[in-house]
Amino acid sequence: MDAETARALMARRRDDIRGRLDEVDRRLAAVREARGDWTDEEHDPEGFALTHEWSQAEGARVRLGATLRELERAGDRVSEGSYGRCAVCDAEIPTAQLELQPERTACVACVDRRRR
Ligand SMILES: [Zn+2]
Repeated sequence: MDAETARALMARRRDDIRGRLDEVDRRLAAVREARGDWTDEEHDPEGFALTHEWSQAEGARVRLGATLRELERAGDRVSEGSYGRCAVCDAEIPTAQLELQPERTACVACVDRRRR
C-alpha cells in the first residue's frame, strides 16, 4: 500500500473514531445529568441501569482513545516505510484488513494465532 492511500485511510478512520468519541461523551454527560442526586444506586434499579450505561460508555471511551494512539503510531510507520507489514510474520497485511483497521500492526492470521 502506498503512503498516500495509507494516510487517507487513517484520516478517515480518525474522523470516524473522533465522531464516536463525541457520541460517547454525550452519553456520559446525559448519564451524569440523569444520575444527578441518586445516592442509593445499589437498591435503585434505575440507578443501577445508569451505572451500567456509564461503565459501558467509559469502556468505549478508553478503547476509542487507544485506537487513536494506535493510529498515531501507524502514521509514524508510514513515515518510516514499515507500514502495512505484519509485526509478527513480516508478511504484507492484506489491503482489505488495513481498510477496515488502518492501525493494524499484525495480520489477522497472526492475531488469531496469538489469541489461541
Ligand atoms: Zn502475520
